[in-house]
Amino acid sequence: MRLIEHCSLTDKHSFHLNANARYWADFDHEDELRSILTDHRFTNLPHLVVGGGSNLLFKGDYPGLLLHPDMKGMEVVAEEKGTVLIKVGAGVVWDDFVAASVAQGWSGAENLSGIPGCIGASPVQNIGAYGVEAKDLIVGVEAIDMANGQPVTLTHADCHFGYRDSVFKHTLKNALVVCRVTFRLSTHFHPNLGYGDLAARVKASGNITSVLVRETILAIRQEKLPDPDIQGNAGSFFMNPVIPAAHYQSLLTTYPDMPGWPQGDDVVKVPAAWCIERTGWKGRQLGGAAVHDKQPLVLVNKGTATPADVLQLSAGIQADVLAAFGITLKPEVLFIEA
Ligand SMILES: Cc1cc2nc3c(=O)[nH]c(=O)nc-3n(C[C@H](O)[C@H](O)[C@H](O)COP(=O)(O)OP(=O)(O)OC[C@H]3O[C@@H](n4cnc5c(N)ncnc54)[C@H](O)[C@@H]3O)c2cc1C
Repeated sequence: MRLIEHCSLTDKHSFHLNANARYWADFDHEDELRSILTDHRFTNLPHLVVGGGSNLLFKGDYPGLLLHPDMKGMEVVAEEKGTVLIKVGAGVVWDDFVAASVAQGWSGAENLSGIPGCIGASPVQNIGAYGVEAKDLIVGVEAIDMANGQPVTLTHADCHFGYRDSVFKHTLKNALVVCRVTFRLSTHFHPNLGYGDLAARVKASGNITSVLVRETILAIRQEKLPDPDIQGNAGSFFMNPVIPAAHYQSLLTTYPDMPGWPQGDDVVKVPAAWCIERTGWKGRQLGGAAVHDKQPLVLVNKGTATPADVLQLSAGIQADVLAAFGITLKPEVLFIEA
């Protein structure tokens, strides 16, 4: 276990803003976590679990204890009917798990190649990309209850997965520390190329394998998304709004080119990036924060951004999108109170 008091967070989150935490604790075993949770120094302070910090916006210095699970290891726990069950430690980097499973010839996670962050956050966020979500792979989650240090096991159904959503953001918000996640992968390759131009890109490159799918996705992501180590960012800043179909139809009279993906009969998902671009925010800068000039859904730290710069930029975008389209953009990034 490692405890740091007055810990700089600049390198502990992908926005790389200047902020400090009162305490930061790394641990790689449940017993260490339990001893932290009963330490009288922390009992009256706020707690938050942080993995890779790739979806967080610190609004300023964090006044409490940040808990960083660092459990490692990937273990095959069962093999059944053309699938393998793999239990993975919360501290494993998500993409290391994907790379290792692709190298083993196991299929299912390759479309999620290149997503930053750690395993422990994958069920919390229900991460997704290129037509696959973590929920398609997760069998179960092992966690520790922060209130009493007791182990908790959740099945797939217990997690109540939704679009970038799960029980860990609602009734179990800030209640559990995820320590291990079990995934089911296939021992046979079933390509899932239905999203965007993935099929065309993969087919143009040759014989379709999971390695090729992974490499293609990594290349597309590199072209489209800014590298957080060069321009700090937290990926998609806003979620794609889902609006009533009648609202979408009325917007089409003014904006006939507005894209929309029906989600059942009554609602339509609209690309937040399109709304941001149409309100003129693409590439605009406020202080040290800017809207990325290729991907307007990503807000970036140009090097000197403060939390206030990012908040002002985000509020300006939300106000203009609301005024233009009557749509409220909800942040995908988690704002952490100072
Ligand atoms: C360049 C870039 C591209 C991205 N692309 C995608 C993408 O394609 N798809 C996608 O879905 N996301 C994407 N993201 C967002 C981000 O990578 C995911 O949300 C990721 O799961 C966050 O993991 P993390 O370990 O960094 O979690 P953090 O940002 O540290 O935490 C996120 C949330 O999970 C909670 N949490 C973290 N670990 C645990 C744990 N062990 N136990 C309990 N709670 C925990 C935190 O309290 C917080 O609420 C991207 C981000 C960046 C910077």
